[in-house]
Amino acid sequence: MPRRPLIAGNWKMHGRSEDLVEIEALAGAVAALASLIDIVVCPRATLIARAAQVQAAGIVLGAQDCHAELAGPHTGDISASQLVDAGASFVILGHSERRRDHGETDALVRAKTEAAAMAGLKPIVCIGETIEQRRAGDAEAVVRAQLRGSLPAAAPEGLVVAYEPVWAIGTGLTPTPDEIGEIHSLIHRELAQAYGPTGVRVLYGGSVKPANATEIFGVAGVDGALVGGASLKAADFSAIILSHPAANGAA
Ligand code: PEP
Repeated sequence: MPRRPLIAGNWKMHGRSEDLVEIEALAGAVAALASLIDIVVCPRATLIARAAQVQAAGIVLGAQDCHAELAGPHTGDISASQLVDAGASFVILGHSERRRDHGETDALVRAKTEAAAMAGLKPIVCIGETIEQRRAGDAEAVVRAQLRGSLPAAAPEGLVVAYEPVWAIGTGLTPTPDEIGEIHSLIHRELAQAYGPTGVRVLYGGSVKPANATEIFGVAGVDGALVGGASLKAADFSAIILSHPAANGAA
């Protein structure tokens, strides 16, 4: 099943209303690619509704987390249906920073993934090993276990998986293309075994920059990228998007 490329920006806990101009500028720079590549920006939840008002044709909005229940007495939390109401179409779940800062387990990520799917959000489920796990030769086993623990029994509509080695996030370090290829191939095999031919996209994330994007996009099984720091500025993020092979000749 052909898989349409997807490149998503994770703004993390950065960005205020004055930074929404970056989304407008991004749309201007990559307008010609929207029919070829899914381009997603995931700002802070407080900015989603305002971002939805920005003139940014071709840019789709995502959130960075949601609660595992669709409503209820959970002060300070945000439900998947509220994110849809604000204008989000995607939601990043199980990012390593949430697993680290909030003790999110695979079981919780799975419950959130189910809630997101129920509300009509497309989940971007993040998995990835630590440097200690990679050095111990356990990267594949860790990724396999996280995948099996974090995904629902039935494939959610529009599910995306992001392979993000924890040690590559925000560090400037990246795995070799062979290492990325090995893990992506493992994830695609696991997905096919669990769900059959679904076309689930598998993104690479971790220090993707304009300088390394072409090489990473060239790895078999890489269907796009989840980009943190380099997604904050339209100039960098658009350069990454424009370096995808699908952009050749279209921009
Ligand atoms: C991320 O936050 O998902 C990420 C990959 O960050 P960075 O690109 O900054 O490493």
